[in-house]
Amino acid sequence: ASGLVKHFGGKRMLLKRSPLVRAVNGISMSVKEGETLAVVGESGCGKSTLGRLLIRLLEPSAGDVIYRGRNLGNLTPDELRRLRGELQIIFQDPFASLNPRMSVSDIVSEPIWLKGGSSRGERRDKVVEILRTVGLRPDMASRYPHEFSGGQRQRIGVARALASDPRLILGDEPVSALDVSIQAQIVNLLEELKERLKLTLIIVAHDLAVIRHMSDRVAVMYLGEVVELATTDTLYDAPLHPYTQALFAAIPQASAVARHSIKPLDGDVPSPTNPPSGCKFHTRCPHAKPLCNEARPQLEAVEGGRRVACHFWREIAAAGSDPRPIAR
Ligand code: SF4
Ligand code: MG
Repeated sequence: ASGLVKHFGGKRMLLKRSPLVRAVNGISMSVKEGETLAVVGESGCGKSTLGRLLIRLLEPSAGDVIYRGRNLGNLTPDELRRLRGELQIIFQDPFASLNPRMSVSDIVSEPIWLKGGSSRGERRDKVVEILRTVGLRPDMASRYPHEFSGGQRQRIGVARALASDPRLILGDEPVSALDVSIQAQIVNLLEELKERLKLTLIIVAHDLAVIRHMSDRVAVMYLGEVVELATTDTLYDAPLHPYTQALFAAIPQASAVARHSIKPLDGDVPSPTNPPSGCKFHTRCPHAKPLCNEARPQLEAVEGGRRVACHFWREIAAAGSDPRPIAR
């Protein structure tokens, strides 16, 4: 993706303009085939919007998404429809995202039917196969969503996403609506399916705890921008951006906190309708200097394919690496 921008609102209404929300503000990045990329940030940071732009559930206000060599903005509606099956989504809320009047069989066979070229019997066989794949019994096919628990419903959501033989699945906080005891099951299921079906996953999450073991790389977002992008191991080992460091401070058991003795975040996220100038994090950043509210830091390449958007990441990293005992 390059230069992705998505603004909502800003339309002239009767007497005034609706506020312009800069949900995604100039993001350029790539998703590698076969990887699990986590997109992490507080609510309202634009992470769900970015995910939807990447799978073309939303059209960008500006910028391009190139998928397997093709610019998704140049496809005809017909081509886009054929591509739809390859780019799927699992929603956050398995209670709201399943039509209560459709049986599991209908829910899962609809994407197969939309793809075309299958008989009734073939669709039935495929539904049975997919239900087994996600850990549901085939005899559950005739039941309705309300008859299932949250974890089972999310398995149905996963089954629906799998039905059109996707290559890439966006999980929009796929476990955050579930009981903690169920979360690990769904995470394990996604990991297992990714390996087995050679999927690419984009997992949107609001904290770093959930994605620790399942993601290969992490993009950290703040107010519509990616502020740090790194492999998961590097990021957990040494977060460079002050905002990433603050996110780690929100996870009590994270080792990075112990080592960097980082303060948790103060203050609320500023409004995306009226974002701060310069570095958008300067209103909350413990390291902010005058330059920070004047100039927007670019997402610059650091060693190891990692990228960070902070004027002072070098100084902050140097200060943080003083030898000191590790508190545990
Ligand atoms: Fe903090 Fe300045 Fe870096 Fe922004 S650019 S994260 S305000 S030090
Ligand atoms: Mg969201």
